[in-house]
Amino acid sequence: MDDPTRRPVCHCGLVTEIKTSWTTGNPGRRFFGCKNHASLRYKSCRFMQWYDPPMTPRATVVLNGLLRKLNGLERGRRKERIIWVCLVIVMMLFLICM
Ligand SMILES: [Zn+2]
Repeated sequence: MDDPTRRPVCHCGLVTEIKTSWTTGNPGRRFFGCKNHASLRYKSCRFMQWYDPPMTPRATVVLNGLLRKLNGLERGRRKERIIWVCLVIVMMLFLICM
């Protein structure tokens, strides 16, 4: 389906591109969407047509759980990185003041 001639055309008259949904109802499910959907330059086009079939309810629950875990781990890494940067700055200030 990567053949552009087989992709649907949106309300703007453009060949759509394949995008991925990250909503809790359809995590990871691909769909055809307008290239100008989130563009500030063009008037937003809301065309959307599913590319993948719907997931089973169990797969949706499992995938959402994994995404929550991944987001929590990424938040933890960001906090850890900030703590390290602060620690290095404090150490450098301490060494400068000695
Ligand atoms: Zn469009």
